[in-house]
Amino acid sequence: MQGEGLRIGEPTIFIRLTGCNLQCEFCDTKYAWEGGIEVKVETILNTVRNLKEKHNTEWICLTGGEPLIQDIRTLVHQLKSENFKIQIETNGTRYIDIPVDWYSLSPKPEEYFYQPKYKGIAKEVKLIVIRNLKSENIIRIRKEFPKKIPLFLQPCSNQSWSYALARKLLQECIEKGFSNIRLGLQLHRIYKIK
Ligand code: SF4
Repeated sequence: MQGEGLRIGEPTIFIRLTGCNLQCEFCDTKYAWEGGIEVKVETILNTVRNLKEKHNTEWICLTGGEPLIQDIRTLVHQLKSENFKIQIETNGTRYIDIPVDWYSLSPKPEEYFYQPKYKGIAKEVKLIVIRNLKSENIIRIRKEFPKKIPLFLQPCSNQSWSYALARKLLQECIEKGFSNIRLGLQLHRIYKIK
């Protein structure tokens, strides 16, 4: 199940890729920075075909780590040829030209750098509400995307201080005249789905 963003609650098959080009101190998937096992594309396809039958979903989410640091072109093209819909959760520092239905962009501090290409193709933007996130960071990124693209304030590892800070920052942004900034949550943590 997708637990975050606009697709929240939709049955989704997750493929978690090992490795990340960033090392965020607040990362809640540090276990994905290294290790993992090498799996052939055909093996992945067989697994997701079975899961598709079981869970009646056509959505695949590639996540990590950072999924775009691996060469996922063959995998994505094969999945598309079988009519899966592809979501990619990325920190935005890399871009590859592959057929993706849904980019979830989550730029990371301190620079919040992302490839400019995402300004036209991201379906949603998520910022993790860490202790030193400022409304200035949120507003800068809000201004860089079309108004219809929501910007989610995503609580940090479901911690209460992060929820409180998200509310405060949202209020500040509203008072400064900005819209389509939303409070996010992690539904998979509430439902205890791994
Ligand atoms: S970009 Fe994401 S996966 Fe990579 S270290 Fe930061 S939070 Fe973790």
